[in-house]
Amino acid sequence: MCKDEKTIKDLIIGRRVGFYKVRGEIGCGTFSRVKLAFHALTKDKVALKVLDKTRLDSQAQRLLSKEISSMECLQHPNVVCLYEVMEKPSRLYLVLEYAGGGDLHNRLSTQGKLSENACKITFAQILSAIKYMHNINVIHRDLKAENVLFTSSGCIKVADFGFSTQVSNRNDALDTFCGSPPYAAPELFRDECYLGASVDVWAMGVLLFFMVTGTMPFRAETMGKLRRCVIECEYTLPPWVPGPCQRLIRGILKEAPADRYAVDQMLGCDWLLPVQFPWTLVPPEPASPLQGLLDSERRDLEEEVEEEVRGLLEELGFTGPQGGTLVLISFSFFFNAGTTASR
Ligand code: ATP
Repeated sequence: MCKDEKTIKDLIIGRRVGFYKVRGEIGCGTFSRVKLAFHALTKDKVALKVLDKTRLDSQAQRLLSKEISSMECLQHPNVVCLYEVMEKPSRLYLVLEYAGGGDLHNRLSTQGKLSENACKITFAQILSAIKYMHNINVIHRDLKAENVLFTSSGCIKVADFGFSTQVSNRNDALDTFCGSPPYAAPELFRDECYLGASVDVWAMGVLLFFMVTGTMPFRAETMGKLRRCVIECEYTLPPWVPGPCQRLIRGILKEAPADRYAVDQMLGCDWLLPVQFPWTLVPPEPASPLQGLLDSERRDLEEEVEEEVRGLLEELGFTGPQGGTLVLISFSFFFNAGTTASR
């Protein structure tokens, strides 16, 4: 392809980035433009997040580097996958799993509240993603309906790790105010140090309220009034919301973080009981020393296979960093680009 005239021209005019053919724009953020792109060989659709490096101040660079490092350690069916990061002199490209079914905020704003079943299925998937993240000490810190995306087949993908952080211990206190005020927990408005997992849990309570009723629990014309509503935990649940769901919302939206439901309590609540989780939420503990041995043999075999695949890819010309212009940061993310549908 390096010798193909059309490919070279497309690379120069930005219609191609690495192996990706770039198509129209699908969204834009404060520092980014997100475009639809196709992998030239696998034909997989991806969302290509393009960042102009010259526009990133030091704070934006710090957030971006956290976004990348959080996403690098996440692999879950309900979390947008980062396949690859490419860097050019003036631009940075994040190659992301494509979720083409729009976002939850748009769906709720145009179609109103979800049916009870749709709420359960949607909430269970978000819960699954959050449990997984918290288990590996990643805190999202910007959970909101705009960051919950649907795939074209209706599966949920939690996106936007721009405010995420990794803690070394779940009890580590954080102190940066992040996220969107209507989803922010009382301790954030009180300017206190906070536990990351508890603020994600609070935001899930707000999200659940929004999905079930089609309205936000905390609304006000000014930031001061919103702050007061949240700090006083003042919200009204419509009486028609089913009892088990009311109990779940009330268990989450508790003013004191220590009184709030933990993720495991949410998973075991009456309201979600009929939901079958189609995938394992946590990697199973090895049941016995023999199981441990079998697992370690399986991992060795996987490493051998990966090594073999790496060799085959190198024969095809995928050799990682090329001339200092493209940086392939994770072989496994790249490899996943061809296997998304089957995961
Ligand atoms: P800001 O930078 O202001 O916080 P943002 O974080 O929402 O905004 P991006 O993450 O750059 O910005 O996303 C911008 C838009 O692109 C999103 O609102 C969404 O519509 C679309 N988008 C982002 N990621 C994907 C994806 N993986 N699949 C499909 N669409 C996406």
